[in-house]
Amino acid sequence: MKDIIDYILRFLIGTDQAGWLSTCIGYTADPRLFDRYQIVIIPSGFFDESTYGTPRSLPSLPLAEIEGVPLLFGSPKTEWAGDTLLVYADLVASSFFLMTRYEEIIHREERDAHGRFPGKASLPYRAGFMERPIIEEYGALLRRWLRQTADYEEIIEPQAKIQKLWLTHDVDAPLFCQSLRHLARETFKGMGLTQAWKLYWRPERQDPYYTFPWLLEQGEKMRNTWGAERCQSLFFLKGGGNAPQDKPHYSLNLRLLHRLAKICSAPGSSIGLHSSYSAGLQPNRILSEKRHLEKAIGSVVCYNRHHYLACREPEDFNTVEKVGFTDDFTMGYADIAGFRLGTCRPVHWINPITKRISNLTLHPLACMDATLCESKYMGLNEEEAIAYVLKLARTVSSHGGELVLLWHNDRVGEFSGAKGADYRKMLQIILSEIITEDL
Ligand SMILES: [Zn+2]
Repeated sequence: MKDIIDYILRFLIGTDQAGWLSTCIGYTADPRLFDRYQIVIIPSGFFDESTYGTPRSLPSLPLAEIEGVPLLFGSPKTEWAGDTLLVYADLVASSFFLMTRYEEIIHREERDAHGRFPGKASLPYRAGFMERPIIEEYGALLRRWLRQTADYEEIIEPQAKIQKLWLTHDVDAPLFCQSLRHLARETFKGMGLTQAWKLYWRPERQDPYYTFPWLLEQGEKMRNTWGAERCQSLFFLKGGGNAPQDKPHYSLNLRLLHRLAKICSAPGSSIGLHSSYSAGLQPNRILSEKRHLEKAIGSVVCYNRHHYLACREPEDFNTVEKVGFTDDFTMGYADIAGFRLGTCRPVHWINPITKRISNLTLHPLACMDATLCESKYMGLNEEEAIAYVLKLARTVSSHGGELVLLWHNDRVGEFSGAKGADYRKMLQIILSEIITEDL
């Protein structure tokens, strides 16, 4: 547990300055140890053996608040014991609960049709703070208390800007109508033979889903304004999968993958694996998909995101880590945009069952395109959706975090309107506003 407590305290304070400051904070209920620290957080009992992992360990609603910040465990009380500030708000357990998706191991029965824990069943949604990365707010409280307890005037707040913008694109379907199979599909189930025939004969780069140059251009514009290091485009390509939800199966077509990889590895962009729906069901399939993609593109792939965001159980990240990924971008909800992990900064994955800190970095996904406007999800109109994303972007900026957006290549093309909203226009407006507001 000690390494987890240390990690969370350092994460709360902010990694650049966390080294020695974290040693000023204790996490103990033993009064004999209080005077060793400037601040002592009193454990709420969440980690007690008799409580941890049982339904009793879950917070009950409504949550208490400490200085306006929702508190999952402990109480808002603070008091002095000599020169030591005793904090009864259990910020360690509260942060742990959020960053590990602890509630998902207690509520195993709570899953949607795709085996995912629904955002609307989550505590952040039910308690009304899905749009607030409250771990950052805990950090701000802790830094303020540290300034109060000693002359730590030099403790700095994170610089208010989006540290990094990830423009990420899941390539579920690279092309709309470029094969005989597509032609048959559109003839019998889609737009009819005449229209499909015309599309079939168009050059590949005029295919409605072939929006890669446009997506790359959006990243390029941001990099030109912000500098290369602050914005990265990421394309997640499939490497396998045979579930109906994995259609179209372009994974076995190495030539197509190779061509896509060439386009998507332009300067400022990288390629990751879009782990299939099948791999969400059977995580041990991820390795062969990773190898398949690596063979096609001729280089090692370090980034992962699951198709349908269906990395079902928290411990499934064990496999993601084991097969050699360093970073994962799956951690957002499909049904509601916001901060699934309670933070807007990259965080090490902690296994809530074994309490092991891994080397895998999770990048919190703030928002997927379809989440915003589809009626089964948030059902916003375009204007509301843009306002919602900008609100998230401003929040990220105020905490100096990173903003991860997911826009699909097939939602910004010619028929994007048919998908319920003009996601192409929305992305343009969002990015230009982010630049105008200097977020
Ligand atoms: Zn997908």
